[in-house]
Amino acid sequence: MAPSKKSPKVKAKGKSGTKTAVKKVAKKQKVAAVTAGRSTVNKKAAPAAPTAAVASVPRIKGMPQSLRGMKDTLPLEQKFWRRVKSVAEALAQAYGFECIDTPILEMTSLFVRSAGTQTDVIEKEMFSFIDRGGDNVTLRPEGTAPVVRAYVNHGMVNLPQPVKLYYIGPMFRYERPQQGRYRQHHQFGVEVFGDDNPILDAEVALLAYLFYKELGISSIVRINSLGCNECRPTYREELINYFRPKRSQLCDDCKRRLSKNPLRLLDCKEEGCAALKDEAPQLVDSLDDSCKEHLMRVLEYLDDLQVPYVLDPHLVRGFDYYTRTVFELIPEDGDNKTASLGGGGRYDNLVEQLGGRPTPACGFGIGLERAILQMKAQEIDPPDDSIPDVFVAQLGDSARRKAFALFEELRDAGLRIAGNFTKNSLKAQLEIANRLGAKYTVILGQQEVIDETILIRDMESGMQEIVDYKKAVSDLKKKIVKS
Ligand code: AMP
Repeated sequence: MAPSKKSPKVKAKGKSGTKTAVKKVAKKQKVAAVTAGRSTVNKKAAPAAPTAAVASVPRIKGMPQSLRGMKDTLPLEQKFWRRVKSVAEALAQAYGFECIDTPILEMTSLFVRSAGTQTDVIEKEMFSFIDRGGDNVTLRPEGTAPVVRAYVNHGMVNLPQPVKLYYIGPMFRYERPQQGRYRQHHQFGVEVFGDDNPILDAEVALLAYLFYKELGISSIVRINSLGCNECRPTYREELINYFRPKRSQLCDDCKRRLSKNPLRLLDCKEEGCAALKDEAPQLVDSLDDSCKEHLMRVLEYLDDLQVPYVLDPHLVRGFDYYTRTVFELIPEDGDNKTASLGGGGRYDNLVEQLGGRPTPACGFGIGLERAILQMKAQEIDPPDDSIPDVFVAQLGDSARRKAFALFEELRDAGLRIAGNFTKNSLKAQLEIANRLGAKYTVILGQQEVIDETILIRDMESGMQEIVDYKKAVSDLKKKIVKS
């Protein structure tokens, strides 16, 4: 912006006016004269959110703390959350998914009936308790079962199929907290009901892949087929025959799983069990013709859609409800030990299992904390749309009242506004404006109230100009559009 012809007037004003106050602030901070254009107040340090300056407080006995594995999301972090949520929503809506929110608390039996009793989540990780009415309830550990319940409860089977739903919300698992693994985490998930066409499996995997791509993160899909109720029993037998002679080398959990749920052995992270997995029979070899055909079609669609994938013949997932397609997303440079960025698959029997009409379905769940960790690791800094366009500063009581009205006028005009009406010092207000990264500060003092003007300060260049109060809104709008 060129220096305003009016700005010298700032210097010429009397000692009690706003201009003097502005000058005092500038002087204190070893700033060149307003007309020279720049000031340290205006230096655009990386705009920090208000909490950036908050030092962590030492733990004092008796002071309440958040629970282990559960985190506060401070204002500084919010731009990452806004980014992942807006990418998720835009993508889901573009592909015809509608939003569904289900309660965080459900009957425990919903998860036991859907995920299977021999799974880690059900055996060890649920936040379950008896409520005051005597019901056994659980904080949802995953999003699919509640959405299936809602699909059945609300008769969505009668809607034109496929019904496509998405959700974003917290999940709870009592796991050992570590980087990327929390007791409360958040998932973006999608579910498609009412069609077993393999193109839907591919569409769902594509969406998970695109979510990361939009964030600037390269990923690949690990994919497998778990077959169906017809062909899986054969594989189950083969697996038992393979592992039984090696029983002594298995961990205690897997010894138990061997007879009850042998597929879970493939998911065990214990070193001894994981090593035995390499030579284990592969599911793809036992698939019947229709499951084989389904898998081939999914892979062909992924080829067409240019979604990078690897076929992992030992991939199983943490829940028992999956049939046919299962997949996980890992970072491009990850391997099968890397924590997954998201995962999903087909669950053609679950709707019926939970009391609905037989309805094929598929979906995925993506951990948003993992997406944010990837963004940070790759130094992907999301745009911060909370940065105000204009900060409204005031000096003196009559100015404060007028500034309050101006704040609302500017907000009404569609600009992002910030202000602090409890501070009396202009220096303090300019410091806040600077910390928030405001592009402009408008300053109203006693003199401006009398003159019916305002002072507009460009926070980047330090240039200031006096404008007619009536033109303030239109002037600022023009400036913001240009910047
Ligand atoms: P799952 O339902 O176990 O397949 O989880 C789906 C996705 O949610 C995983 O791929 C992770 O991205 C994420 N996730 C699962 N458990 C956690 C956790 N404890 N903390 C953070 N993210 C998780």
